[in-house]
Amino acid sequence: MTARNIIGKRYKDLEVIAEAGKNKHRTRMLICRCLKCGTITEPKPYTSVVNRGITCGSPTCRYKHGESRTRLYRIWSHIKQKCFNRTDHQYKKFGALGITMCEEWDLDFRAFRDWALANGYTDEMTVSRRDKKGGYNPENCYVRPSKYPNSKESKTNE
Ligand SMILES: [Zn+2]
Repeated sequence: MTARNIIGKRYKDLEVIAEAGKNKHRTRMLICRCLKCGTITEPKPYTSVVNRGITCGSPTCRYKHGESRTRLYRIWSHIKQKCFNRTDHQYKKFGALGITMCEEWDLDFRAFRDWALANGYTDEMTVSRRDKKGGYNPENCYVRPSKYPNSKESKTNE
């Protein structure tokens, strides 16, 4: 039986970067990179990463995850999903067409947040693209009033 190649795949906050063999319970182990804080994890069981969507577990990461309740964070997270997550229902209109998020924003929410705040973001605003065929990056994006201010669901397609 050949193990499915999942290097480079993303599950929640973790991107698989390497296989780490099997542990003493013969469980397939994976080394991941946290998409939120950049931490390279200790080997973690396949099922925890793929099925349970565990986080990186780094104490400094937990601190950064404190921002995950904010509306701006949800906007960032939804953009990432539709650009990078092949199972996201919007992926075919974004990632599949080559629309992506710049590495600086992808790797660090704070870079996106700082850009948005510097460009006048408030919870009545949203992040939009000038060129709809272009990606999410500081050159192609701007902040404008949202049609759904204060919405619990961030509508990043408006
Ligand atoms: Zn992390």
